[in-house]
Amino acid sequence: MINLEKLKKAGLLFHTGLLLFSIAPALIVFLLLLVAGAGFTLSFAAGLLTITAFQVYGFLYEKGVADNPIPLRLSFWTLKALQSVHTFPHHTPEKMVVAMNNRKALSETCRKFSSDEVLILVPHCLQNHECLIRLTFNPDSCERCGKCPIGNLLEIKDRFGAHFAIASGGTSARSIVEKTGPSLIVAVACPVDLSLGILDVHPIITVGVLNEWRNGPCFDTWVNTEELEAALELFLD
Ligand code: SF4
Repeated sequence: MINLEKLKKAGLLFHTGLLLFSIAPALIVFLLLLVAGAGFTLSFAAGLLTITAFQVYGFLYEKGVADNPIPLRLSFWTLKALQSVHTFPHHTPEKMVVAMNNRKALSETCRKFSSDEVLILVPHCLQNHECLIRLTFNPDSCERCGKCPIGNLLEIKDRFGAHFAIASGGTSARSIVEKTGPSLIVAVACPVDLSLGILDVHPIITVGVLNEWRNGPCFDTWVNTEELEAALELFLD
């Protein structure tokens, strides 16, 4: 399910974002102490300590000791600001959030869930654009013809007995989560929806699987169902 190389890169990016964010508060601490007459060495040390504190918080989050995703949010928004001046390839901050979240979720696999506590949430863009069946309200009306991954996903849902829903967007996904009240979400989406959704549904444990854009964004997308099955096998009792 998890590509270790990708995770290492995501970890580096996460700490870089956090480091860049912490420069501003460190500078404020340094200047305030300097103006207050604490002297250069002490003020500088306090600035460095501020940066270290952010890194330690990030490390604790990464290791699953600190549960709140504040460091992830700070790193994400800092990287997003940098991305606006084309510092990284497209969707790098979003993919970092998904990878870091999955790493954290993986550290919780000792916790097992019953199928009733699990929600498989997928986007409507997985459905083949020529299919006329309306799935949003009743995914089971899919005829499992094989033209899109929905049929295969439904088979996985039947096998694991988890809840299954198709979201038409961020608002719809939020309302499905509120109605279902899951303890674990295995979500498929694009980097933007997945990263924002993951940050949104905290503290529910979420495993994110990125959809594949074989025909461009939001159109006849695809998903590697093996990743999804692997996540369910790890967490289901
Ligand atoms: S698998 Fe289901 S949703 Fe996809 S095209 Fe076939 S009938 Fe429609």
